[in-house]
Amino acid sequence: MLKANYPVQKFEKIETPFYYYDLDLLRDTLKEIHRCIDKDSNYHVHYAMKANVNAEVLREIKNAGFGADCVSGGEIQAAIDAGVPTDKIVFAGVGKADWEINLGLDNNIFCFNVESLPELEVINELAAQKGKVAQVALRINPNVNANTHHYITTGLNENKFGINMDDLDTVIETFPKLKNVKLVGIHFHIGSQITDMTSFQGLCVRVNEIQEYFTSRNIVLDHINVGGGLGINYEHPNHFPIPDFEAYFNVFRGHLSLKPHQTLHFELGRSVVGQCGSLLSRVLYIKQGATKQFAILDAGFTDLIRPTLYQAYHRIENLTSEANESEYDIVGPICESSDTFAKAYKMNGTKRGDIIALRSAGAYGEIMASRYNLRKLPKAYTSDELK
Ligand SMILES: *Cc1c(COP(=O)(O)O)cnc(C)c1O
Repeated sequence: MLKANYPVQKFEKIETPFYYYDLDLLRDTLKEIHRCIDKDSNYHVHYAMKANVNAEVLREIKNAGFGADCVSGGEIQAAIDAGVPTDKIVFAGVGKADWEINLGLDNNIFCFNVESLPELEVINELAAQKGKVAQVALRINPNVNANTHHYITTGLNENKFGINMDDLDTVIETFPKLKNVKLVGIHFHIGSQITDMTSFQGLCVRVNEIQEYFTSRNIVLDHINVGGGLGINYEHPNHFPIPDFEAYFNVFRGHLSLKPHQTLHFELGRSVVGQCGSLLSRVLYIKQGATKQFAILDAGFTDLIRPTLYQAYHRIENLTSEANESEYDIVGPICESSDTFAKAYKMNGTKRGDIIALRSAGAYGEIMASRYNLRKLPKAYTSDELK
């Protein structure tokens, strides 16, 4: 069984559970993104902050020169604190509060991705109070199916995100009355953990149609933002540590009709940080049930909620055992039956004290940790620290 190449001897001295970030892999991932887009000077990547805001991880991403995609005032502040230039910050979200809009205005962020007409009017009003003109892009719901889990599908008419095509006329007609917002682009984000490139192709086709809509009304758009959503390989993180960015960017090169003056923006989250992180845990007990055996870990859904929330699969490796494989229900200590990482999972035979890695936990892992049951928040270590 191929396992992560991790410093297990160092892990043995550390209290579990904790997150471990392989910064070498993160740096290689960032390099690969650069390799794929550097020839297109009009391509811009904004890292989706909500995936992970660990300080060391953010530093690498900022050093790679990426902007930030924020969905809250807290994330705008974190991006600024990490040194991301404010003219590379975009701000999306269906429920932007006034203080969050004001924070964006005060810092002259690059663009507000507006999700409704009432929001557009509020941004206009708040910008007027400051004597500013806010750059806005319309987040349009393209009604494209991302073929992913329904909790992380965002681009269908039934979803709460974005402006539906039917409402676009009304929004466009309102613009001339709003003096403190300037329409600079359109924005899309159809979902997350998308591995089927035809979903992104479908998005390109819709974006081309929607561009026609604006062109026919003589509206010039400078920026097209196609959001994020590129998936990672949760089954085989050791074989596919870096997502196929080449194939991803080629879809847009091949299928999206950009006008010569337009820039194309991407908001990648999971694909940037997902594979560089693992949650490390120790086995507390092996418990023989009536029909199965349980491996009870000291990590639970308060540390990594994806299996509980989205029935997500994480590869699980026993880093301290080479014993024959055996089947376990791998569970946490929290007082909820949903606190289960995997059922009938085969891993090397385990005993109390073994160190277990839950792989591909770099995105939507640490950031979603909670203190339910008054548990401690997990700490985090990087490969640079444990070298
Ligand atoms: C979450 C989110 C992203 C990033 O999605 P990933 O699947 O992590 O790439 C990008 N844009 C918006 C608007 C988002 O809400």
